[in-house]
Amino acid sequence: MTEHETVTKVAEFHGHMCPGLALGIRAAEIALAEIGPHSSDEEVVAIVETDMCGVDAVQYLTGCTYGKGNLVHRDHGKNVFTFLRRSDDRAVRVSMRPGAFGPDDPEREELRAKIRAGAASGEERARFWQMQRERSEDVLAAPLAQLYEVREVAIQPPPTARIHASVECAFCGEPTMETRVRRLHGQQLCLPCFEQGLAGRSPVPLTTAAFSGDNATSAAPPQRGP
Ligand SMILES: [Zn+2]
Ligand SMILES: [Zn+2]
Repeated sequence: MTEHETVTKVAEFHGHMCPGLALGIRAAEIALAEIGPHSSDEEVVAIVETDMCGVDAVQYLTGCTYGKGNLVHRDHGKNVFTFLRRSDDRAVRVSMRPGAFGPDDPEREELRAKIRAGAASGEERARFWQMQRERSEDVLAAPLAQLYEVREVAIQPPPTARIHASVECAFCGEPTMETRVRRLHGQQLCLPCFEQGLAGRSPVPLTTAAFSGDNATSAAPPQRGP
């Protein structure tokens, strides 16, 4: 089980303690036990199928982070985390069991709705977060087998991060990784400008006269974006 002090640090990183974060802490426990220690470089990769609270715990505890490129998000809306170590390609898929969050609680959901609507009193807010902490404690203390199914899987590791050259977008002038640049009417464009251009919303065709390199390299390029 994760130490209390560590749980506090994860909650500070995330901003609050909630059952989703607690579930992420428990998934990270499985990763650390089955796959290896905190990943300072890219030796471990996490593929997360959710963008909810738990991912913050996974990032903080396993060292699989968005910025290092060893956290891959697949937008499936499921609390499923696959951890892979590159040294021998061992991978485990950690999937949340139904009911891992505990039974539904109408009072808590009512309070959540009130807070969202901006209609909750201070007392109601305090009550909600107290309930969140209690439910989190339950998740932190539950046997792992009750929360998650864990199975070994065979998957291909994603390529490691590479440094790419930047190209200035011919429309907005912002340096863009060369692998993300698109061509339209003979111009190299960043993705948002390309999409604007395709939709006919930017001054297309783009003329070199209007978008000469001067502005792109000046200290404060004028805003010409869509
Ligand atoms: Zn949260
Ligand atoms: Zn652009």
